[in-house]
Amino acid sequence: MRIPLVAANWKMNGNKAFAERFFSDFDLQAIAAHVVVCPPFPYIPLVSQVAEDRERFSVGAQNLSQESSGAYTGEISAEMLLDWNARYVIVGHSERRSLYGETSELVAKKFVAAQQAGLIPILCVGETLQEREQERTLEVIANQLKAVRDIIESDTWKHSVVAYEPVWAIGTGKTATPEEAQDVHQFIRGELGNVGEQVQILYGGSVKSANASALFAQADIDGALVGGASLDAKEFAAICRAAE
Ligand code: PEP
Repeated sequence: MRIPLVAANWKMNGNKAFAERFFSDFDLQAIAAHVVVCPPFPYIPLVSQVAEDRERFSVGAQNLSQESSGAYTGEISAEMLLDWNARYVIVGHSERRSLYGETSELVAKKFVAAQQAGLIPILCVGETLQEREQERTLEVIANQLKAVRDIIESDTWKHSVVAYEPVWAIGTGKTATPEEAQDVHQFIRGELGNVGEQVQILYGGSVKSANASALFAQADIDGALVGGASLDAKEFAAICRAAE
């Protein structure tokens, strides 16, 4: 039995006042799904304070370094995230891949760095519109997963979350249909081998309260990674409730 998980990716949005206001509007007690909020780095301690002592609520980061320490100006290590009580970290978000040139090999190293330190990586995979139109969706995703599989023990997938995020659906208002998403989720689960049934696979790409229930009703969709809609506490709470 996989516990539903809904993760918020605030990206580079908000400020201290926003983060404080968010949690006065977001009624955690009323939500049974497991919730992760990934704010920008400076607000991780603030969200950690909210997370304290709450069983189903965790804080995550949006990125980490593949290195553990050293002369890497501007980078943040897994150990530093743990010092802030982060439990999850997003790796391989399409914005990191496309805007900052992160290759699948680099993403795989970040995945391992996170896991070795005791963080749970949320590995994002997904195809561009052109790749979907060329009917290369499954090939692209298989390659993104393979880069990780090549450097981990196969049962290590157990300690991770995978997010299927079609690039053409992120921040565009376009969502994969529940059936399109389900097909890819089922494929991903098969690619994770023996432990695939235990891994939470999230859908991401313009999820909102209006489309969340239909997505979550699919057998292999275990929750969502939510960008834009996670900046509205009430809307985000409605998505979390749909996942229960
Ligand atoms: C994301 O950035 O991970 C995402 C899914 O964004 P949005 O929900 O805004 O499409």
